[in-house]
Amino acid sequence: MQQSDLRDRMNPVERKSLPGILDTGPLTRDVFAIRDAQVNLFIVRGPEGLVCIDTGWRPQAVMAGFDALHLDIHDVVAVLLTHGHWDHAQCSEVFTNARVYQGRGGKPAKSPRILVRNRECISVAGLEARAIATPGHTPDSMSWLIDGRYLFTGDAIFLRKGKVFPFPSKFNDDQEMARRSIRKLSRLKGIEHLITAHTGATNNYKDAFR
Ligand SMILES: [Zn+2]
Repeated sequence: MQQSDLRDRMNPVERKSLPGILDTGPLTRDVFAIRDAQVNLFIVRGPEGLVCIDTGWRPQAVMAGFDALHLDIHDVVAVLLTHGHWDHAQCSEVFTNARVYQGRGGKPAKSPRILVRNRECISVAGLEARAIATPGHTPDSMSWLIDGRYLFTGDAIFLRKGKVFPFPSKFNDDQEMARRSIRKLSRLKGIEHLITAHTGATNNYKDAFR
């Protein structure tokens, strides 16, 4: 599938409301974005395989993204879900060699999941992944800190012009809890890249929370 075909799936209203969304391509040497219409999923390359943050929702588009990046979906050994919403978690079946990790408190899923707790640290593909519970958007929302440098926030953060906001309240289960989760993330140190699922990324962590 051509990139332009993927781009066309997002209507102009979505384009305008999600100006920071990333097109499929590398973000750093070892982090890659795939855009599946209105959502990004991410791949982190580790010494022992690939790790995906979220799954996207359309198998064709997700697999086309791997092809475009010259990466093999079968090398994905772990999927770390930021939450169970369909656009983030619906494609987990295409990752046939991966274990799928998710925060507690979500709706039961069709495929098997390994449930993780706040601050739980797992070793995946030679990388260290720490789960940081950031409820508010949903009860099971997890941010994932990879090797202490890359923070994937799913829908816990809405970036606008490099600044951090909660998602509009109509998208969040509990807006006050979402704000508390953002305050919790603001205290993390050493983050090199803050990476969201719908609104792009920034490499200026301090400034993003100012
Ligand atoms: Zn969501």
